[in-house]
Amino acid sequence: MEPTKLYALPKLPYEYKALAPYISEAQLTLHHQKHHQAYVTGANAILEKLDKARKENSDLDIKATLKELSFHIGGYKLHNMFWENLAPAGKGGGVPKGELAKEIDAEFGKFDRFKKEFTLAATSVEGSGWAALTYCTKTERPIIMQVEKHNANIYPGFSILMVLDVWEHAYYLDYKNDRAKFVEAFWNIVNWDEVNKRLVMLLKK
Ligand code: MN
Repeated sequence: MEPTKLYALPKLPYEYKALAPYISEAQLTLHHQKHHQAYVTGANAILEKLDKARKENSDLDIKATLKELSFHIGGYKLHNMFWENLAPAGKGGGVPKGELAKEIDAEFGKFDRFKKEFTLAATSVEGSGWAALTYCTKTERPIIMQVEKHNANIYPGFSILMVLDVWEHAYYLDYKNDRAKFVEAFWNIVNWDEVNKRLVMLLKK
């Protein structure tokens, strides 16, 4: 039988203590090793469940299974993007450069207006979820998106340029339930070079 390809927890592109004081070593370790890992494990378990049911030709609750699968794949993929669009403290933050700066200025007028709208998107996501910056190649506009859980409210097919995890598990050790304070801290460690790289890649397609 062919070896089964499974999802795997990626290594972080920096050390666990690299984001402190904005995200502590303890918080980042827990978030990566426990929560991100749970989506990897969850997605793999469902793939195996699908394989098994097909092999045995047994019945499955397809609706529930696919819903669960989209939740875990969403969690897996969004965390991958999140780690990559953060930079070690002292090396991130500031303002975007390059193509991204041009697009943000053209759409929002100035960076501060974008920052305000993205912050409001992040602080007001209902329940657990994400704020994301996307880009629509049809209208050629960067558009902000809220994601409830990992998989609801998304604009299908729109490429995500930047995400911010606002699940309580992302910040409760550092900020208790003060999501706004965590969102404020995020701006100090956002990796604008990575976000710009994603945009440039998309515009090249
Ligand atoms: Mn998370």
